[in-house]
Amino acid sequence: MGMYNILKTEVQCAYCKNFFEGNIQFKFGDTWLYEYSIGDAIKWGGLDVGSSSYDKVKVYGLLEEDKCLICGLEIEYEYDIIVEKNIIKCVIPISSMDEYNSTDGNYHVL
Ligand SMILES: [Zn+2]
Repeated sequence: MGMYNILKTEVQCAYCKNFFEGNIQFKFGDTWLYEYSIGDAIKWGGLDVGSSSYDKVKVYGLLEEDKCLICGLEIEYEYDIIVEKNIIKCVIPISSMDEYNSTDGNYHVL
């Protein structure tokens, strides 16, 4: 998927309900393999995707793991990363891919 950033965060397995730390790739802000955590501000000023001026935006996220690290079953690997006022607020299993279609699949302004 070209250059991207990584959000390191806890994801939950729908089957065994355990949490583990996952790496979620996304393309928003300066895309340069930066590692982020929930609560971090997005960096800008390079290979920018999107804009820091959005009040609220959801960003398409792709989990690097496709199996639960605990029980081994296949898990949800697509996520909505919610960014408010340029801060990563939370991550939730994707609700719909449709809304990402207008922006090359990377983000959707809410
Ligand atoms: Zn599991």
